[in-house]
Parts: sequence; C-alpha cells; structure tokens
Amino acid sequence: MDTSFNLDPVIRKIPDFPKKGILFYDITSILMDPKAFGYCVSQMVSRYRSAGLDAIAAIEARGFLFGAPLALELGLPLQLVRKQGKLPGQTVSLTYELEYGSDTVEMHQQDLRRGQRVLIVDDLIATGGTVRATADLIERAGSSVHEVFSVIGLPFLGYVARLAPVPVHTLLTYDSE
Ligand code: AMP
Repeated sequence: MDTSFNLDPVIRKIPDFPKKGILFYDITSILMDPKAFGYCVSQMVSRYRSAGLDAIAAIEARGFLFGAPLALELGLPLQLVRKQGKLPGQTVSLTYELEYGSDTVEMHQQDLRRGQRVLIVDDLIATGGTVRATADLIERAGSSVHEVFSVIGLPFLGYVARLAPVPVHTLLTYDSE
C-alpha cells in the first residue's frame, strides 16, 4: 500500500454545514474511494499491530467505520461509544460541555474491563470534547487510553491540550476553517 497517499483531495469540504460558519470535512467521499479507504485502514493497521492493545473504542457514528475494520484486522474487541439512549444494555455515561449546551456519551458497562489498553478511534477531532469524555469513561473503569486515532484533526480548536497527556495521531490536519 502506498504510504504517501494524498488524502486531502479525496475529502469533500462543505461550507456552512451543519450551520453557518462551519466548514464540514466529509469522509463519505473516502468511503466512496476504496484506495483512499484502504489507505486509511492500512495506516492504522501498521501503526497499531504491535501496540499491545486490548480493545478499540469507536465513537458514533463515523468513528465506527474506521474502528470496525481495524478491530477485525487486529483481532480485537470493538467497544461502541454512543450518544445517550442508543445502547440497549446497562451503560455508563458522561456528560460534557459543548459551546452551546452539553452532550452525553455512553458505553456498555460490561464492555469496559479493568487494566485494558484501549485505542479510541474517530473520523475527525475538532475540540476534542467527545474524545475527552470517552477517555474519562475508559479511565474511570480502570483502563488506560493508549492513543487517540482520527483520520482528520483540527488542532487550532485546541484538542491537543484538552487531551494531554493522551497522545493523538491523525492522518492529516487542517489549520483553519
Ligand atoms: P469534538 O467533540 O468537538 O472533537 O467534535 C467531534 C465530532 O464532531 C466528531 O465526531 C466529528 O465527526 C464531528 N465534527 C466536528 N466538527 C466537524 C467538522 N468541521 N467537520 C466534520 N465533522 C465534524
């Protein structure tokens, strides 16, 4: 697999979605391009194959698309991180502040074990609020977050500081919206 694949032209940029002033980085155009999607998955597989992971935690909904092939390829359990009220079993949850209002992430309690080394996967990290709440859920359960993987990062929104000391790895970053 080409290790220098240029993802940027594949990612569709949609201005003013879902509201005015937001430039939305749309990864559905990666899914429509098997070479680009394959590049993303192979980059993840080679980075994490020997990382000593015990589980992958993927964030609703687009994080599932990248977390699932990775978990399958590495032979690891896949934990789903969902918005409130979607998971049918007993859950643990954490509410975090957004610019306006708040949001809640949930995981199945029985998926969280003590002493595990977990990789968090999402498609895009903006402020890092969702990932921070996910990392807190995992750490509260007595496990540790090895790293956060995201296809796209928007570091100017401050996720590095918000997530420190948990490291973040992205395939590409954008400097401003
Ligand atoms: P945050 O909690 O601020 O890091 O937001 C993370 C979630 O919002 C991710 O799961 C992204 O899918 C979505 N998101 C936030 N901003 C954007 C954007 N500019 N383009 C695409 N998705 C975004």
